[in-house]
Amino acid sequence: MVSIANNNEIVVVGELNVDLIASGLRTEPTLGSEIIAGDFEITLGSASAIFACGIANLDRGVKFVSRVGADAFGEFCIDALEKRGISTDNVRVTDVSKTGVTIVMSTPEDRAMVTYLGAIAELGIDDIPSDVFDGSNHLHLTSYYLQTVLQPHFSRLMASAKEKGLTTSFDPNSDPEQSSIEKISAVLKYTDIFFINEQEARLLTGQDNVRSACLELGQFCPLVVVKLGAKGAIAYRDGEFVEVGGFKVDALDTTGAGDSFAAGFVHAFLDGKDLRECLTVGNACGALSTTKPGGTNGQPNVKELNEFLHEIATR
Ligand code: ADP
Repeated sequence: MVSIANNNEIVVVGELNVDLIASGLRTEPTLGSEIIAGDFEITLGSASAIFACGIANLDRGVKFVSRVGADAFGEFCIDALEKRGISTDNVRVTDVSKTGVTIVMSTPEDRAMVTYLGAIAELGIDDIPSDVFDGSNHLHLTSYYLQTVLQPHFSRLMASAKEKGLTTSFDPNSDPEQSSIEKISAVLKYTDIFFINEQEARLLTGQDNVRSACLELGQFCPLVVVKLGAKGAIAYRDGEFVEVGGFKVDALDTTGAGDSFAAGFVHAFLDGKDLRECLTVGNACGALSTTKPGGTNGQPNVKELNEFLHEIATR
């Protein structure tokens, strides 16, 4: 594997898979019938990788820690990360399982997904070098419920990142078993930024109102950020809410919008920006990501992000 120098700023420990995306579906797919897709693509998938690519595109050095199978999809994932300048020295290739695959069926509004976990469910604490946080500033963890072997170690990983002076962010993604907030409370104890979408916030708290959900989630960590799809996002910290509306774009595929949003938000956060600006940058990265098929194709670089924000501001 190619080693890329000085790629230490952000550490992402997480799953890798390819996305097989059928997009532009005019109706929702249903069992027993066939519908026609407007487009099809194979892209780098996984919430962890989409976040990593999004923030690497914004000129942050990223170190990725993961596992893939010894197969063509595994090579595809490593190659895609390296093309973004992401260090893959800590991506282990094993012949124990095949590389994970997600089949995505995407309409302009939403998507349905089928995931084969493969190597995703094998990544364990032994795959993570003890010096992984040395020289880094921030740890991002996501896909908590998919990473069954790593799951019991999430809180320890977050705690050791905090001990080494890193800031941390966590987006657990949706829980197929819809367990309660208690399941992730040990991780939230060491989480600086907790990302969650509207539906997940409702399910975790049983609150229908987003602000009530934020109040409840805010008891577990200092900063709660709820992604609201096309409506934008809301943050809650120190008893205060900040809400920023979404940008109007021609959304084609919402795959990974939440991870691109998180990449933009963390990028601004690490620059010391206030919550309104973090949400604005997150919304811009999330919105732009929906304009192209796949999770990473629409992610902006710094120039594109600035041009987009400038264009909106001067409209
Ligand atoms: P997730 O992908 O985690 O479910 P969301 O669907 O809420 O999260 O999307 C994340 C962010 O991406 C939103 O907060 C918003 O900033 C942006 N976004 C998502 N869908 C759209 C859309 N159709 N138009 C504009 N922005 C969008």
